[in-house]
Amino acid sequence: IAPTSSFGLLRQPREVLYGAGQRAALAPMVLALGNQVVLVTDERMAGDPFFNDVVVALRRRGARVTVFDQVTPDLPVGDVDAAVAHVRSSEASDPEVVVGIGGGSCIDLAKVLALVLRHGGSPRDYYGEFAVPGPTIPVVAVPTTAGTGSEVTPVAVLSDPEAVMKVGISSPYLIPHTAVIDPVLTGSCPSGLSAASGADALSHLVESFTAIRHEPTSELYQERVFVGKGALTDAYARYGLELVGRSLRTCVHTGGEGPHRDDMAMAALCGGFALGTAGTAVAHAFQYPIGALTHTAHGVGVGCLLPYAMAFNAEARPEETSEIGRLLGAGENVTPQGAVRAVADLLSDIGIPATLADLGVTYDQLDEIAENGLRARRLVQNNPVPLGAVEARELVELAFTGK
Ligand code: NAD
Repeated sequence: IAPTSSFGLLRQPREVLYGAGQRAALAPMVLALGNQVVLVTDERMAGDPFFNDVVVALRRRGARVTVFDQVTPDLPVGDVDAAVAHVRSSEASDPEVVVGIGGGSCIDLAKVLALVLRHGGSPRDYYGEFAVPGPTIPVVAVPTTAGTGSEVTPVAVLSDPEAVMKVGISSPYLIPHTAVIDPVLTGSCPSGLSAASGADALSHLVESFTAIRHEPTSELYQERVFVGKGALTDAYARYGLELVGRSLRTCVHTGGEGPHRDDMAMAALCGGFALGTAGTAVAHAFQYPIGALTHTAHGVGVGCLLPYAMAFNAEARPEETSEIGRLLGAGENVTPQGAVRAVADLLSDIGIPATLADLGVTYDQLDEIAENGLRARRLVQNNPVPLGAVEARELVELAFTGK
């Protein structure tokens, strides 16, 4: 039978470990992939006893280990260049495995480093969707925030001073080989970081649940992968949304370790699975120029835009929008408008700014944001309601004024 859909059913790592204590399995998992190891992290994690334990465990078992611990948030492309130069002059100059430990920025750097070390050139050669020529060095991803889902996604996001927006590299070859998700590692996230990364996870779940690519698209698709109502990724989105409804507020307002961290680590994972196949849409598209202009944390920007994007899309996705509200705990009979309000309330409760003006955007930047957001074509085309220049400008204006 000739395939009738070009969209994969599900893209995922070879192995995903999840649960409190799984960090103890990291060293053996890494050594199973090779003896020359690069560990990518930031200064905070490099000073954490867990990180030191990993280095000691790897070296004790004979591994050659290089540490790059200079990752900065939002991953400037210069960090990748620095990491490549560092590894090439180190004791593991020809690594067999690259391990990213930290937030999305550390994991994304591990992915791009593994790509550039294997295929040469610079990160800029691989921007976009079709430029990665083949498998990279295997990556093991260990998230310490609960948000990006990067531990399982085919994407890496960078900021490039030469570009007006954040830039992405997207390819199934970027999916980590192994993800080790230990929610205990997120227990140290302060309230603001829990909110930003939680809003990011929520945005992944909502956008993938309403995206064009969440629709079963062909007979073959319906026959083979129709699971209840909607695509298989919907099952991940539904589960993730329930967990967000149950535990995001607690992560932000109570913090520390506990079952709420287990929930949000799982929600972020579900968001990663869902977005890795169904993709995200317009809230992410407009965050690209906003992030570049304001240097707002990624999750804060997408979270701010999310209710406006949902309201814009509600007419095309009334059932899904209501279901999002139900899953978040807004009641059985919630309307699409009520569901948008429930999402806005949740985001407000965790301190996400309500408007682009609150993020520091100025009115004279709106044209530029609308124009550049549309250039994220992969995301805009995945939005359930088509957007042209007029609609984009209107949406950005609404998000600016909050009306
Ligand atoms: P981050 O990696 O940028 O880290 C932000 C800050 O949090 C850093 O200072 C870091 O040291 C700190 N931090 C991380 N874990 C901590 C912990 N447990 N305790 C205390 N502090 C901690 O934050 P992020 O939100 O995880 O990642 C954002 C990046 O990921 C952005 O560049 C975004 O564009 C990207 N992203 C990637 C994908 C993907 O699929 N690849 C998806 C969404 C977002």
